[in-house]
Amino acid sequence: MALLEVKELSVVYRTPFGIVNALNDVTFNIDRGESLAVVGESGSGKSTLALAVSRLLPPNARYVSGSIMFDGINILRLSSSEIKRIRGTGIFMVFQEPATSLNPVFKVKDQLMEAVRIRYEKEGNAFDESKAINEIMSVLRDVRIPDPELIIERYPHQLSGGQIQRIMIAMGLLMRPKLYIADEPTSALDVTVQAQILKLLRDLKREYGISILFITHDMAVASIIGDSIMVLYAGQLMELGPTKSVIYEPRHPYTQALLSSIPKISKDEGKLPAIGGTVPNLLNPPTGCRFHPRCPYKMDICSKVIPSLVKVDNTYVRCHLYGQ
Ligand code: ATP
Ligand code: SF4
Ligand code: MG
Repeated sequence: MALLEVKELSVVYRTPFGIVNALNDVTFNIDRGESLAVVGESGSGKSTLALAVSRLLPPNARYVSGSIMFDGINILRLSSSEIKRIRGTGIFMVFQEPATSLNPVFKVKDQLMEAVRIRYEKEGNAFDESKAINEIMSVLRDVRIPDPELIIERYPHQLSGGQIQRIMIAMGLLMRPKLYIADEPTSALDVTVQAQILKLLRDLKREYGISILFITHDMAVASIIGDSIMVLYAGQLMELGPTKSVIYEPRHPYTQALLSSIPKISKDEGKLPAIGGTVPNLLNPPTGCRFHPRCPYKMDICSKVIPSLVKVDNTYVRCHLYGQ
């Protein structure tokens, strides 16, 4: 059994302007010790997916259909106190917007200590403060926090967004959850820190068998962190498969377009080929395949019928060019 099984998940937001169709019929699994990178342009539903899996959607969101099984439990059926028990050592999430992540009334040190204490408890070990502080310092150095001795004595409002983001990443490393969800955790960081954090997450996965759901808009980052890649577009899952297949044999026209917009260091190609058009407004998404207004291979059927997810070799693709 996979650690996370998401089936036919659809989520909407209610807004004063109407219903936003943020996720439509999304299905995927993450096995224990495996990582899935979710890629897509802004507004494709990546954060909605992460929040939906963590049961942290805002009050105006609604699960329309589907199921989310985590470690054999249907998390959509849990009460809010039951879901609180799963958060932390079960599912840990690093948010895209770091400002709200830490508790404003406690110092960083207290919050990290609490994370280690919870893990010790889960592992059945007695809490050892000096051991915990050594572990915290070591992880803060790993995530490249300068002067960690000073930083841990601060309150969240005394830190920059980038520092809070790295402290949250560190908190997840200290907690060793079963599923580590990270929503664009490195996009605001410089490339050296970004590379170090991707390496830390890969080590965490290898050493402790932790599963990772990593969200990024960057195919290059996705290919480093993901055993598999899922490509989302306008709330639809367009392609899902092992990283090698998605990167070297992309089947979906949208995946192909995303890949051709990555800069190739070895070639001087001048300007990057941007994908023509813009991500649609999900208040009124395109009918049929949501990519059809931008797709160079568009056929008559594309604007009329939503393509099913079909298996092509080891990859799932939602496109009328495949299947029947
Ligand atoms: P980004 O790369 O910009 O973070 P994303 O892929 O994470 O984008 P989401 O934030 O999941 O995309 O948004 C998906 C859709 O849902 C968008 O159309 C967005 O405007 C809408 N949306 C997100 N949050 C809310 C909300 N709280 N209320 C209403 N609509 C929302
Ligand atoms: Fe393009 Fe049609 Fe495939 Fe959509 S279903 S990606 S419009 S060919
Ligand atoms: Mg987002």
